[in-house]
Amino acid sequence: MNFIPIDQLRSIEDSKLLYKQRIDDAVQFYKKYGDKFVFRKCPICNSDSSTSIEPFIDLYSVAKCNVCNSIYVDLVPTNEQLADYYNHCYSNIIYANLNKTNKTQFKYKERVDFLYSQIIDYVNYHNLSDINILEIGCNNGYFLSLLKNKLNKLKIKKNLYGIDLDSNAIKEGMEREGGGDCDLKLFSMDASELGGLGVKFDFIVHYELIEHLVNPVQFMRIINENLQTNGVTIFTTPNILGLEAKAIGYNEERLQVHSVFPPMHLNSFSTQNILYFSIVNGFKLKSLDTPGNLDVAALVYKNDNLNIRELRFISKMSDKYKGKIQYLIKFLNASSYMRVVLEKNEN
Ligand SMILES: [Zn+2]
Repeated sequence: MNFIPIDQLRSIEDSKLLYKQRIDDAVQFYKKYGDKFVFRKCPICNSDSSTSIEPFIDLYSVAKCNVCNSIYVDLVPTNEQLADYYNHCYSNIIYANLNKTNKTQFKYKERVDFLYSQIIDYVNYHNLSDINILEIGCNNGYFLSLLKNKLNKLKIKKNLYGIDLDSNAIKEGMEREGGGDCDLKLFSMDASELGGLGVKFDFIVHYELIEHLVNPVQFMRIINENLQTNGVTIFTTPNILGLEAKAIGYNEERLQVHSVFPPMHLNSFSTQNILYFSIVNGFKLKSLDTPGNLDVAALVYKNDNLNIRELRFISKMSDKYKGKIQYLIKFLNASSYMRVVLEKNEN
């Protein structure tokens, strides 16, 4: 229960630099495309009844659904405009480079260990002799490569697949894997083209992706179509009901990104709306937890500048007690980083 500080994954200086560049990019992007954004209904429940709330950086329109209470960006860029953002905005280059540092290894190890435990349970339960696993948004396939090494112990046939829109990252990954690796295949493609692979997957995973999408329901439909019956999808996304997100609003400076952060993050999921979202898209909710470590540290970093005065006591505590509160936040599913495991329904 040691207290985990805010710079667990990256230094404070790097985080501040990245945050500033992301805001600069958001302003420039809005100037370029803001008058061409399009309206959308609630991305969780499809209702068109909503109430406008505080815009993001006085520019981007944000709404609260009157039916399911979800908060979302209601005037959104098109996918073509977003392609320009992800390919050309400088903040995305900074982020990609930061992800190559040693500190981020911790994040990958945690994901590999969790997925491995889920795979073992699944293989034993279904008594399988082979398994198909896909990561959507795999970048250069580094995570899949770590997973492949860990799965070596498992004496069944493993087929690992990764897809990403970034063809340069895929090329880099294929070179690292020696090109023709038969256990790990990487493709540059959109999720909507997955049917072309002719594979039904046992596991489809994606990390920090679904909050970026203009149409997350369509994305869930694609995942559903490409999973085996009883196949499993695992994903992570920010939880807008987590301590940090509630204590530090989306317009305040934060060292981690908030669910509401257009044009990057357009959807805010939560421990409340995820159950409805899962069921209407053809899944059972197998498990949900919030393994995020950094909520308490983010509040401590704000210290006396924290807008909610009643929470300033946390920064005054000793590290021993901060560590215990950190544990409590995770224990109660109240962290701002959420992990969801869904099982595809039988038709
Ligand atoms: Zn709604």
